[in-house]
Amino acid sequence: MTAHRPLPDGHDGPAAGRFAPSPSGDLHLGNLRTALLAWLFARTTGRRFLLRVEDLDRVRPGAEDRQLADLRALGLDWDGPVSHQSQRRAGYDEAIGRLASAGLVYECYCTRREILQAPSAPHAPGGAYPGTCRDLTPAQRAERRAARPSPALRLRSTVAECTVTDVLHGEYTGMVDDLVLRRGDGTPAYNLAVVVDDAAQGIDQVVRGDDLLSSAPRQAYLAATLGLAVPEYAHVPLVLGPQGKRLAKRDGAVTLADFAAAGPGAAARALSAIAVSLRLADPRETVTAETLRTRFSPSSLPRGPWVYHPA
Ligand code: GLU
Repeated sequence: MTAHRPLPDGHDGPAAGRFAPSPSGDLHLGNLRTALLAWLFARTTGRRFLLRVEDLDRVRPGAEDRQLADLRALGLDWDGPVSHQSQRRAGYDEAIGRLASAGLVYECYCTRREILQAPSAPHAPGGAYPGTCRDLTPAQRAERRAARPSPALRLRSTVAECTVTDVLHGEYTGMVDDLVLRRGDGTPAYNLAVVVDDAAQGIDQVVRGDDLLSSAPRQAYLAATLGLAVPEYAHVPLVLGPQGKRLAKRDGAVTLADFAAAGPGAAARALSAIAVSLRLADPRETVTAETLRTRFSPSSLPRGPWVYHPA
């Protein structure tokens, strides 16, 4: 199936972009670069820019405050209050309820290990849920439920793949399986929460790291199934550490706090390094987010990853 990009509807305000960090620790240069790009995409297209804290799990105390402070230090601003997924449970429950009424939800009793060890269903692409619990008889269900009284909920997907439109990757087709909607511990699943929130917030442009490109078809399919608008995507290249792997704290001086430990002007130095990597500034040039806004154009964005060598 192809999830076309409908016009944003059902929203009074103008269209919006967003940055949606998980408050699991300090933002590093890769996260900050993605945040800057999301801001630039939104601010150069007349969109509002929203900040959403994805705090359904992996919350580290104090991380959110430091993340917001770091974004402000780079010169990024956002519209309206910061939203929190932990405050949005009713919206997720409502979406699951609607899918359940349409017969599109089933209980899954599988453990992670069972899924990994299950022979994959014929035609199921690698990594897809093999459908073990999809068509159980009532007796089998009762037996499985006795062993695992708090099952996860999965979407009964009717397609194997879906195509999305990405500003940087063009038409991208990826796998759609019976994705988890609510985990066994009751936590709404990431894919569900993102889709419900993006639609509720009028977000019609999703800019994020390209490690999430393969999730976009699932999310677009889920949005379309819920009758929600499918956003335009821009999955931007990740920042890699010196070993060629995704940049991580262990690579050294990668957060603004690390930069600050090395001397004054931490945010300006980080912004400058990011701007040079985006070919929006010359080395040693002092720039502001506002200057970058006047120079930004998606078509001149470098398409490959940025390999960063911490000082
Ligand atoms: N919260 C996710 C993360 O920090 C991003 C989700 C998204 O942008 O869709 O990786």
